[in-house]
Formats: sequence, structure tokens, C-alpha cells
Amino acid sequence: MNTNFYFTLFSNCIPVKGAVRSIICDLQRGSYLFISNDIVDVLASCETMPIFKILDYYRNINEVELEILFNQLIELNLGHYCENPDRFPKINTQFNSPYEILDCIIELSDCNLKYIDNIFESLTILGCQTIELRTYSHFSLEKIEIFLSKLNLTRIRNVELIVCHSQLETSNAFEAILKKYPIIETLVIHSADIDNCKTIGASNLIFTTQIITSSSCCGNISKEDFKINLPFYLHGIKNNTCLYKKISIKANGDITNCPSLEKTFGSVIELSLEQALNTTGFKELWSIKKDDINICKVCEFRYICSDCRAFLNDVYEKPFKCSYDPYSPSFHNLS
Ligand code: SF4
Repeated sequence: MNTNFYFTLFSNCIPVKGAVRSIICDLQRGSYLFISNDIVDVLASCETMPIFKILDYYRNINEVELEILFNQLIELNLGHYCENPDRFPKINTQFNSPYEILDCIIELSDCNLKYIDNIFESLTILGCQTIELRTYSHFSLEKIEIFLSKLNLTRIRNVELIVCHSQLETSNAFEAILKKYPIIETLVIHSADIDNCKTIGASNLIFTTQIITSSSCCGNISKEDFKINLPFYLHGIKNNTCLYKKISIKANGDITNCPSLEKTFGSVIELSLEQALNTTGFKELWSIKKDDINICKVCEFRYICSDCRAFLNDVYEKPFKCSYDPYSPSFHNLS
């Protein structure tokens, strides 16, 4: 090892320090690696000091140990030696979206079906490109198709459809929907008899035995749902990952930040989504980032974890439905 050199992590590999351990998030490959908090401190110093100075500064680490660590990180494609770290600038953390709304959740219902043209027109004006359409109980495929058939008149490019498994619909019917509407990225069938997952064209068809009877079934935080990518990370360091630029329409037409939140900002029956968006308080929760939330702010997963601001007593509280304790650090069973 040439101790005149520096060792730096690649710019897409971001260390995130927790209460008792840390991770390196590889935002390009969508993975993370656990490391100790001490190593994170050493790696932070490596950005400004050549290796010989690191050895001088951290007297408890010898050259062999440091070389083993660096070689492990190189083998995992997380970092490299270099002569001049200034040639490898950090990722630009500016996250600016020209769109007023990024995500929309619509609970499929006869009411929303009646106002769907107005809803989609508003979403087009607001620039929304991602939508989740969901039902908690049986809703006919014919009516679902009316929603889907109008999507090509909008700017929406990513669609997740969550429907209830029903004896009236066969697996073939769901596959036919995916073939007919390739805009659907994922079709989730909840309350199914078995857990199963398959790919139809470029879409995912997921059957889950999870029973989703209402929006109160949402908000679970689990490691399976962690999102490890650059846009999510950039979004998470500045804004609320769950609610920022999101709008939802409940089955009765009420406009909310999220279907699980009770506070409404009008109804699609009487006002447009643009008007609801400009109602006092609509954007209030958008800026609550993980670094502002008690306990989450010391969690090593805070920039890859979806948040939930619905099931809590206080808006700065850790989500009730998260079983992770960054101090233990482990996931517990939720009672
Ligand atoms: S403690 Fe907070 S940041 Fe950590 S996993 Fe739970 S909700 Fe996510």
C-alpha cells in the first residue's frame, strides 16, 4: 500500500452513521453493507488525509489492518486508492423537481370514477408521473379498466395497481390486464390464497396473502421495503420520503396527503387537485425529513427507509409500525 495515496469511497457509496453501527449505501447497485461507527470516522478522515497521516492520527489502527479494510472495500467495489481525491467529487445533493406533484394514490370507487377526467386533467397539469390505484374490496375489472384506459391521456408513466383477490376474477384475467396495459409496472393482488410472484412482459404480478381491508393496513416499515437508489436518497436528506409532493384521493373523493391520514383538504366533488394543493396546511408535513424525527435520526437506515406520518401521536415521532430499534440494533416483534 502506498501510504502517500488517499483512500476514498466511490461517490455513489454513502456511509450513514447510526446510534451503534453504520451502513455504506451503494446507491448504484441498490445494496448496503454494515460497518462499525469507528470505520465510518476513519473513512471520513480518509477524504482529507493521505494514508500515512491516517496512521499517525488513528494510533489504534496499524498499517496491515488498514490495508485489509481498504482491500475489502475495493473487492466490494465500494472504494479505491487515489493520488488526488479532489478529482473524485461528491455527489451533487441538489434535488429539484419541476413537477408540483410526484405521486398520487387513488382509491378506486364509483365516486372517483365519476370525476376521473377532472382528476387526470389536474394530475397532468401538476406533472404527476407515478400513480397508485388501489381497492380494498371487490371492484369490477370493467370499472378498473375505465381508469386504466384514460391513463394514456396523462403524463403518468409508472402505475402500481393494488386490487383485492376475488373469486369472480381468475389469474388469467389479471394477466390479461397486464398484457393490455403495459404501463402497469406492478399489479398486487392482496387477500390471495397463496403468496406468488411472476413476471408478465415487463410487469410484476404479485399475489399476497396479506389482507388489506382499509388504509389502516398501510404504514408498515420493513427492511424488504427499503429503497436504495439515488433519487430516494436525495429526496430523503431534504424532505419527507412518504409525503413530499404526494396527493391522495380517498374512495369518497376526499383529497388528503395520504389515504391513511384523516385530515382532508376538500373533495374532488367540489374542487380541483390544484386548489386542494394550495389549501393552507397541505404541504405542512412535506419537509419533515428523517433527520428531524426522534429515534429515526440515529437510525442507519434513515435515508433508505420509507416513512409513515400517519400512525403516530406526534409528527416528529418514529412510525408506530416500525419494529426497528437502532440502539439494540435489531428488529423486534410488534405487539
Ligand atoms: S427507526 Fe425510523 S428510519 Fe429506522 S427503520 Fe424504523 S422508521 Fe426507518
